[in-house]
Amino acid sequence: MTDWNAMSDEDFRREAREFFESEYPPALRYILRRARWHEMKEWWRKLYEKGWIAPNWPREWGGMGLEAGKMVALLEEMERHGVARAPDQGITQVGPIIMQFGTEEQKRRYLPGTLSGEFIWCQGYSEPNAGSDLASLQTSAIRVDDEFVINGQKIWTSLADDATHIYLLARTDRQVKKQAGISFFIVNLQTPGITIRPIRNLAGHEEFCQVFFDEVRVPLSALVGQLNEGWNIAKALLSFERLNIGSPRRPQYALHRLEAVARARGLFADPGFVDRYAAVKLDLEDLAALYGGFVEQAKRGEALGPEISMLKIWAMETWQRVTDLLVEVGEEQGVMPGVQDVAGVKADFLNAFYYARPATIYGGSSEIQRNILAKYVLRLPG
Ligand SMILES: Cc1cc2nc3c(=O)[nH]c(=O)nc-3n(C[C@H](O)[C@H](O)[C@H](O)COP(=O)(O)OP(=O)(O)OC[C@H]3O[C@@H](n4cnc5c(N)ncnc54)[C@H](O)[C@@H]3O)c2cc1C
Repeated sequence: MTDWNAMSDEDFRREAREFFESEYPPALRYILRRARWHEMKEWWRKLYEKGWIAPNWPREWGGMGLEAGKMVALLEEMERHGVARAPDQGITQVGPIIMQFGTEEQKRRYLPGTLSGEFIWCQGYSEPNAGSDLASLQTSAIRVDDEFVINGQKIWTSLADDATHIYLLARTDRQVKKQAGISFFIVNLQTPGITIRPIRNLAGHEEFCQVFFDEVRVPLSALVGQLNEGWNIAKALLSFERLNIGSPRRPQYALHRLEAVARARGLFADPGFVDRYAAVKLDLEDLAALYGGFVEQAKRGEALGPEISMLKIWAMETWQRVTDLLVEVGEEQGVMPGVQDVAGVKADFLNAFYYARPATIYGGSSEIQRNILAKYVLRLPG
């Protein structure tokens, strides 16, 4: 297997650029919404065959084990070419969790299929009354003989209708403090008793779903880690999630559109615009540096502490600032739905704007991230 870290940064970047330019489907460049599995599976196969599907996984499990500098270079090249994010929660979230907390059998059973695209994952954390206050979740898993029986409802489950498996939190003990009675399960979505209903978002896309569990019987091997210790796993997974969504990838995506439109409109001759452009560009540079630091930390196998909330806030709010400016430079076309043509440059301004709106909600809202920083990093009085 190739050791990508042994390449010089320049050679690696060139290789990435050439690969994306020659192999990525042109019709999927710069799509400003979550890509669906049927659109991405061919691209997934190409990445898999090249050994590039899991930049963050160790080489032992078929990942690239990329060092931070190359990880950022890879993301930058993806953005430059407008490569969309595949339905990758298996790679970015549950894969690392199975490596850390799973049994040897779970590792062998799930990791290779997650890499190859045989298993597509979705995240069943949120419930109608348990979002920010996740520990209040009510979905239950009761042990009956050699099975757990799951009942309850999840909501906002991204791309559940594309997934083959869900990783979820369920209450396994109601007698203890709420965090102490939660366990982490992995469930095949074909199991009888599961119903998935898509929800249409503001931009008109069916990006997330409700998932109902009605007497869903799963084997004991669906439990990851120890019974009632799911809260620690949930927190570890949220750190991986915040690292992933804190990557400069999406704001960079929007910045490239912004630059193209600004060039087409001659705005780089306008000092007022250049001032505002420079501010968001520098915010993005800061983000790339911050992200690189956390990637290195994760690669050294160090736990990601509450400081990761800073990355989530900075990434998401920078992204929103870029898309705000994008709508402005679109002028009257900036508020028109659908793809607009500005002096030969195509951009879907409004969709970019919409797509960035929920970013300060999912993965833990900005208010909650600020609470975490206040309490656990700055140690401010509560
Ligand atoms: C696009 C999108 C995709 C998502 N995908 C998934 C997914 O795949 N799987 C999944 O499990 N979930 C998913 N979610 C759900 C997401 O995690 C929740 O929306 C989020 O945790 C907030 O919970 P909530 O919606 O219940 O809002 P609430 O918790 O009801 O919060 C409402 C408002 O109150 C504020 N608030 C709440 N508590 C406090 C507090 N203590 N201090 C200060 N302010 C507070 C919040 O910041 C927010 O502004 C997704 C959400 C979105 C928007």
